[in-house]
Amino acid sequence: MQNSIDFLAFGAHPDDIELGCAGTLIKLAQQGYRTAAVTLTRGEAGTRGTPEIREQEFAAAAQMMQVAVHRQLDMPDAAIEETYVNKLKLVQVIRELRPRVVATVHWESRHPDHIHTSNLVRDAAMIAGLKNLTGAQDEPWRPNRVFYYLERYELPPSFIVDISSAFEQKLRAVREHESQFHGPNMAKYGGEQTVLTRPEFLDVIEAKNRRWGAMIGAKYGEAFVVRELVRIDDPVAAFGEWCREAIP
Ligand SMILES: [Zn+2]
Repeated sequence: MQNSIDFLAFGAHPDDIELGCAGTLIKLAQQGYRTAAVTLTRGEAGTRGTPEIREQEFAAAAQMMQVAVHRQLDMPDAAIEETYVNKLKLVQVIRELRPRVVATVHWESRHPDHIHTSNLVRDAAMIAGLKNLTGAQDEPWRPNRVFYYLERYELPPSFIVDISSAFEQKLRAVREHESQFHGPNMAKYGGEQTVLTRPEFLDVIEAKNRRWGAMIGAKYGEAFVVRELVRIDDPVAAFGEWCREAIP
């Protein structure tokens, strides 16, 4: 389909996609792929910012991530539940956008919204392909695979994407969430501080991407888990010169 999406990223909150896989979205857009970013909530339970501010920030970040489509669903922040109704909301997005690949946050997380988002996306990606799914509109569609991007926990990735060409722009996308992170305009959004508003937070994001990059011989990388095994057609080409540059 002409308007279909190649890579659709889901996040629980505005800023999850930016932190987890913005570099991959930007790199794919640079390569001519059509990408999309969809959040399940509007982030209204956050300490800083209002839903309106966070919507504007997400729109600005979406532009920075060069996504063709960005959208926020209406599930309640901090209260996402793994219900059939919520699965159908994600099925509707998947059937409309017809993504080849779907990405979501890894299911092992401290935040319950992230756990439920991960499980909802996994389930929706599967049942969206069922022809006679109860309560669903549109034609069935099943993405080829679900990728899980990593956040807080140290988990072994299935593969790492070289995002060196996209990393600076990724940071700009993250910084569009002015109400959430450290930056020159942070005082506009009140004096209350969180872990995210500490200047070290963005340093740690950089360090993580730098470390994943080092492991594949690149400057910056983003790590993903897939549950299924990965097929390689040309193992000689796949394990090229970059292996000698990888640290350690
Ligand atoms: Zn989140």
